[in-house]
Amino acid sequence: MTATPAIPDSANAEQGDRSGFPDVLLIDDSSFIHSLLEKKLGHEPINLHGARSAAEGLEMAERIRPALILLDLTMPEIDGFQALRRIKDTPGLMDSQVIVISSSDDTEDKVAGLELGACDYVTKPFNMPELRARMRSALRMHEVLALLAERAQVDGLTGIGNRSSFDDRLAEELSHRERAGAPLTVAMCDIDFFKKVNDTFGHAAGDEVIRGFARIFTQSLRKSDIPFRFGGEEFAILLRDTSAEQAAPVLERVRQTIEQTRWPAHPEHMVTCSFGLCDQPAGDPKKPLSWIKTADEALYAAKKAGRNRIFVADSKGQHSALKLAS
Ligand SMILES: [Mg+2]
Repeated sequence: MTATPAIPDSANAEQGDRSGFPDVLLIDDSSFIHSLLEKKLGHEPINLHGARSAAEGLEMAERIRPALILLDLTMPEIDGFQALRRIKDTPGLMDSQVIVISSSDDTEDKVAGLELGACDYVTKPFNMPELRARMRSALRMHEVLALLAERAQVDGLTGIGNRSSFDDRLAEELSHRERAGAPLTVAMCDIDFFKKVNDTFGHAAGDEVIRGFARIFTQSLRKSDIPFRFGGEEFAILLRDTSAEQAAPVLERVRQTIEQTRWPAHPEHMVTCSFGLCDQPAGDPKKPLSWIKTADEALYAAKKAGRNRIFVADSKGQHSALKLAS
C-alpha cells in the first residue's frame, strides 16, 4: 500500500516522473492548508503526501519515511508536540526533517518545537517564497545527513560495508529470519598468515590483498550475499535465505578463486583464507553476538586444522570440515 499523493494526477502527468523526488508529508487537520499547499507546491520537485490527523500522519510517516514532514501544532487528540516527540523517538524517522507550521507566533511554542527536534518553524499564514526556501534548506540538510550516514557505513579501504553496517544488517536479517522463518548463514573469513604479507611485501601489498578480497567477494558471491569488512584482515558474509549446506558450495568457489589469484606485488606468493560458518548459533539465535561467536569458533577450528578451508558449526557448537555433496 502506498500513501496517497496529495498532488492530483493531472499535475503528476504534467510534470512527468516524480519517483526520484524526496517525499514530503504534510500533517495538518485543516483541509484548507492541504489544498493550499497542494496548489502552491505543485511545481516543487517533491512528492507531497497528506495526512489529516497526527495518528494518520505517524502511521504514514513510518511507512514512507519522508525526507521532510510539515507538522501542524494545533490538532485534536494528538497535537503537534506529541507527534514530534514520537517522530524523534522512532528509529526509522529520526532523520526525517520536521518543519513546524503553526498560526502561533508565540516564542515559547517556537522554542519548544525546535528543542523537540524540529529543524524549523514557519508561521501561518504562509509567506510562500519563505516556506519554499525553508523546505529546500531542510531537504538539503536531509540529503547531507543521508550521505554522512551512508559514508559511516562504508569501509574506506575496500568500499564494502564496515563493521557498523554489518551489525545493522545482521540485526535486520535476524528479524527477517524470525518473521519469515527463512534460513540465514553467517560466515566469518580471515586471511591466512596476513601478517607475513605485510612483513614481507610491505603494507601497500597488504592493502592490495584486502582490497582484492573485497573485489573477489563482490564478484564471486551471489547477488543476495553481502560481504563486509569486519575489521583488519577479517571479513563477514551474510548469506540470506541460505542454509549452511547451501552456502558451502558458494563459499568453496570463493575459497578456490582466492587460492588461484595471482597478486601483482607478489605473484609467486599465494594468499589463502579460512572460513567458519553457521546457520544455527550455539547460543540464543535472536542475539547477533551468538551468531558471530559461533561462526568465529568454526573459523578458529578451520585455522587449527591447517587453514585454507571451511568449517561449519552446528547448533551444539561442534565444528566440522566442509563436506561438499558430490
Ligand atoms: Mg490545526
